[in-house]
Formats: sequence, C-alpha cells, structure tokens
Amino acid sequence: MNVFVLNCGSSSLKFQIISTDEDQIAKDTDQQLAKGLIERIGSEAIITLQVGDQPPFKGAAPLRDHKSALAYVIKWMSQPETRIPGITSLNDIHAVGHRVVHGAERFKGSILIDDAVIGGLQDCIDLAPLHNPANLKGIFAARELFGPQMPQVAVFDTAFHSTMPEKAYLYAIPYQLYRRFKVRKYGFHGTSHRYIAFRYRKLTGKSRQDTNIITVHLGNGCSACAIKGGKSFDTSMGMTPLEGLMMGTRSGDIDPTVIDYLVHKEGSSFDEIFSTLNKRSGLLGISGLTNDMRELEGEAEEHQDRRAILAIDMFCHRVKKYIGAYLAEMNGADAICFAGGIGENSPTIRRKVLSDMDWLGILLDESRNQQAVRGKEMLISADDSRVPVYVIPTNEELILARDTVRAVKSLPFPC
Ligand code: AMP
Repeated sequence: MNVFVLNCGSSSLKFQIISTDEDQIAKDTDQQLAKGLIERIGSEAIITLQVGDQPPFKGAAPLRDHKSALAYVIKWMSQPETRIPGITSLNDIHAVGHRVVHGAERFKGSILIDDAVIGGLQDCIDLAPLHNPANLKGIFAARELFGPQMPQVAVFDTAFHSTMPEKAYLYAIPYQLYRRFKVRKYGFHGTSHRYIAFRYRKLTGKSRQDTNIITVHLGNGCSACAIKGGKSFDTSMGMTPLEGLMMGTRSGDIDPTVIDYLVHKEGSSFDEIFSTLNKRSGLLGISGLTNDMRELEGEAEEHQDRRAILAIDMFCHRVKKYIGAYLAEMNGADAICFAGGIGENSPTIRRKVLSDMDWLGILLDESRNQQAVRGKEMLISADDSRVPVYVIPTNEELILARDTVRAVKSLPFPC
C-alpha cells in the first residue's frame, strides 16, 4: 500500500508517502517514496518537496489554507515530471494516515476515521486548542481532495501513554477536577517513544515485557518517557506539551503561581502569558538569541556567550533530573535511548546530560559518543556502564504509515 502520511500544524503541512504493507512491516522493508514540508500557510508559503534521495525542489506560492497546500502537493505528486516510483495519480495512494496530537482518554490507539471519530476529535479541541484544529483541517482537506472513499486513519501522540498508572497521570488537585473535566497528564510524542522502544527491542532481541528503558526525545519539543514492561509508565509532558523538560521555546515545568504573579505585575492577560510560556521561553527565552540548539552551541563555543551557556546548562540539568526521577520510579532501567534533532546530533548535550552519573552506573564512551552520526543507531556507553546508552533516530512517520495499514486491514497493533 502507498500511505500518504500527513502532519498538519497551525500554519504548516508535513507529509511523507510511504510504501508499506504486512509483508514489508514484517521484513522492515517499508520504503519512503517522497516527502515535503509547506510552511507559512496563510501567506506566501515556503515549499520543500523531495522524491526519495533526489535533491529537493524548493519554492514559494501563495497558499491560503491547508486545503490549498494539500492540493498543491497532490498536483506536484501527479505531474509526470515528478516521477515518484509507483505514483502517477491520486489513484496510487491507498490510505491517508494523520498525526493527531490529542486523543484525550477517548482514543487509546490508532483508528479508522469516520464521522463519529471526527466528532470525538472535535470534543478533544478544548484540551488541545493549539493543535487539534489544525489536525482536523488536514482530515477535512484530505476527505475533499482524495475523496470520501479514501480510508483515513488517526494516529495519536497521546495514545502510547494511555497505559500510565493513575499515580503517574493524576495531578494532586481536587479529584473532582479530573472527574468533571479530565484534567490530568496525557503525555505526547507517543509515536516517537513507541518507535524508539520498538527499535531498542530489535537491537537487543528483548521481548516487549522485558523492555524497561528511558527514552529521551530532544528536538524542538522535548519529552522523556519511562517505559516499563514495554508500556509507557510515566512521561514528562502533561495535559498539554508545555509541561516537563525545557524546550526550544516552551518553558517546561513552572510553578503555576508565576502566571498569577505576572498577571498582576505586568498587567498581561492569561493569553499573553501562555503565549510567552509556549513561544518565547525555553532555550530562546533564556538565551535571548535563538531556539536552535545548534546555533546556541556555536555561540557558546565561539563567543562564550554567557546566556547561551546558561540556556544549555539549564536544558541539560532538566533532562538529567528527569532521567534520575525515572530511574528511581522504575528501580533502574536497562537502557537510556536518545532521539530527536538534539538527541541524535549533539554529542555535547548527551555528554552534559550524562556527566556525573557514574554513581548510577552510567558511563559514556566519549569516542563512541562523538562517532554517533545522523540517522544511525548506536551504542554510546562504555562497555562497563551498568546502564547501556543508545542513540536511536526516531521515525514517527513510519509508525503512522504502519498503523494506517493495520487500521485499514483490521490487523492488531503491537504497542
Ligand atoms: P527536531 O525538532 O527533532 O527537528 O530538532 C530540532 C533541534 O535539533 C534544533 O534545536 C536543532 O538545532 C537541533 N539540532 C539539529 N542538528 C543539531 C546538531 N548537529 N547539533 C546540535 N543540535 C542540533
């Protein structure tokens, strides 16, 4: 099957076309045929489209909404000169898999989309006002452009974490607030944590029940997950992706009183403060320079910029703290796995996070750490480290494509 994997953000559309089916899943031979990103939808959009490993096409066009952006991709995909293997028209796409951010307590796994599911997603908007509306726009646009008979599947960021125990997901606030409004931790990046755990099992030959690991996804958004017996046991993001680790522009954990204090001190509205916490905090807020870790590392190294150094120190401190907490929660772990743009590409951040953890039995091998290259799975701990440490490049799109096949063919979903 050729699966069109779609990830719509508020002003962006990311896609991949992946060839996969039961046989390819079993043999790990799924194939990414094409991918692309359209940003700044609503104005002059920036477009990057790529077939396989060929040089990408880069362009710009006025695209007023997600539907026009998707129509642009479909037109590109269907024109003869694009030459995506096996794709000459819309008929060569067999299903669409959507990344949906919030599935609340209702959606605990990937699901074929029908009107009832759409209603359920609309009900989740309250919990994810920044994300779910864009996901729904993608679903409606795909319905119109691919036609109502095209199977569409929703794959949720929250679903993997639906196995967390009550003691991990409840906030210590009056229980009625959970009962009445479902205020609780849901966790995100679930497809990424799930994929990393799956690859860890492939690398080590462990069974799902024997998978007791800490996965650390460090990208522009960051989260850690304690995986016990193959299931999510705890995770750092909360009711929304704002909680937990320090991120590119998000604050992560903060005393809620700060919000009330700023309302009075600055005369800001709640919306302004939440916008600050989501968009102007984290690495960007502390450094005052950028949310981009690679640039910050450059500033720290070349100019010894004090606030760039501080932002990096704070970032690593917070990751270390969560790893420590999860080691305690799970009575140790069989491995720690790094993923995400920072986790996969920055030996400096991995070294800082894992420094001075020898008491816990964690010993990095610096030469392995330096050798870990983009896109490659690698062990980076020393041979005598009690806890092995891996870099495992994540692939959320692959999980999306595979779950789409499974939902369409009513196959079981291995977690
Ligand atoms: P992601 O959201 O997973 O694409 O990750 C984006 C983050 O990864 C940005 O902060 C990038 O600066 C960071 N990143 C990518 N490559 C590197 C690198 N070689 N060194 C440090 N950070 C990197």
